[in-house]
Amino acid sequence: MAQKLIQGVRGMHDILPDEAECWELFEELVRSWLRDYGYRPIRTPIVEFTPLFVRAVGANTDIVEKEMYAFEDKLNGDALVLRPEGTASCVRAVLEHNLINAAGPQRLYYHGPMFRHERPQKGRQRQFHQVGVEALGFAGPDIDAEHIVMCARLWRDLGLDEDITLEINSLGSSDERAAHRKALIEYFEAHRDQLDEDAQRRLHANPLRILDTKNPAMQALVEAAPKLLDFLGEESRAHFEGVQLLLREACLTYTINPRLVRGLDYYNRTVFEWVTDKLGAQATVCAGGRYDGLVEQLGGKPTPACGFAMGMERLMLLWAEIQGDSTQAAPDVYFVHQGEAAGRFAFQQAEALREHGFGVVLHCGGGSFKSQMKKADASGAAVAVIAGDDEVAREELSFKPLREGGEQRRVSAALLGETLAALLYNVEEDDGGI
Ligand code: ATP
Ligand code: MG
Repeated sequence: MAQKLIQGVRGMHDILPDEAECWELFEELVRSWLRDYGYRPIRTPIVEFTPLFVRAVGANTDIVEKEMYAFEDKLNGDALVLRPEGTASCVRAVLEHNLINAAGPQRLYYHGPMFRHERPQKGRQRQFHQVGVEALGFAGPDIDAEHIVMCARLWRDLGLDEDITLEINSLGSSDERAAHRKALIEYFEAHRDQLDEDAQRRLHANPLRILDTKNPAMQALVEAAPKLLDFLGEESRAHFEGVQLLLREACLTYTINPRLVRGLDYYNRTVFEWVTDKLGAQATVCAGGRYDGLVEQLGGKPTPACGFAMGMERLMLLWAEIQGDSTQAAPDVYFVHQGEAAGRFAFQQAEALREHGFGVVLHCGGGSFKSQMKKADASGAAVAVIAGDDEVAREELSFKPLREGGEQRRVSAALLGETLAALLYNVEEDDGGI
């Protein structure tokens, strides 16, 4: 009896080859961009102990309250979670392995899947991917500005600079936030009748988050609420000015958004978001800021830090549009063969060509020469290499250029690598390459 198909989990997407090739291209660009700024990779497990995120992200945040894939390890009862974000894991790993004490301030990046139980929609998934950057041990505004400026360069490199704009804000220090928080609670209490259910619940637990509401009915109320920027002291003000000076000198355009508060508790001072108007409600493609208190909160020595994470899916939605259809990398050679002896010969000779540095797709699954040649053509390969009984008997191989026209020729198998190198080199020269 036919079995029922088992489907993938809702909100967790397969990335099929056409799309995955686009992702790889993007990832290569991103890696070289990160290297250019001196950031080094760090890879941490997808599963962490639940208290890590409760302590780092904050108990009263959306992530911890309702979005975490938390579960109990059935074998030993450990409280575990699929990581919802990367900063906490990164800081945990840095502390656990004593990286800062051993080697000084760290410029790091990570890349990988994150998990949040949200309502799936375009640009919002339950498994999604982030590239994140963390700079640990840097106190000055220069590193905040470096993060913002490096993002701007990536958008330019990707051709997305017209689609993405920058918003910044300062959340000040914890004392400044406490004073603001007090004023905020007083203000919202005076307008309690206008608060929605979410806001009522957050009023005492996390009133700052009320400012982040997406409820249209509360916009006017929130607009007129006390602004954190008005509560900043001398040092926070100077830091924010320092960041802005560097941004202006880098000729970056930005908006100060006093309502930008970020959904995670660990931020202080500079916060920023890169937003687009092309993805509906999923407007933020990249977000970050300073989190000077987090290292200490996770058990380390006080260490200033700053970082950001970008949502790969949202960027890919924007990028795929200008990228066009296929980014499929064509092989140099498609290897066609018929007959048992020719099959074994082809298998061997394909390896020999790869040894020469060529990309070779070896035909598998039989079929006539004609149908194999059709596949060779469809693969986008520059050349078809052909082995039949006659070629095997003489230790020769035939080849036919597929793109520029040209006759089928035959050479000794030992010379094919050199012959193809000359041929493909010339092909590129005709194109104006090299
Ligand atoms: P949002 O307000 O859209 O929920 P967030 O503030 O929860 O975003 P962060 O935790 O700051 O997001 O994560 C950084 C980036 O990761 C976001 O700007 C976004 O691009 C991406 N991101 C966050 N959650 C998702 C998700 N569920 N699906 C896809 N991308 C996401
Ligand atoms: Mg969110």
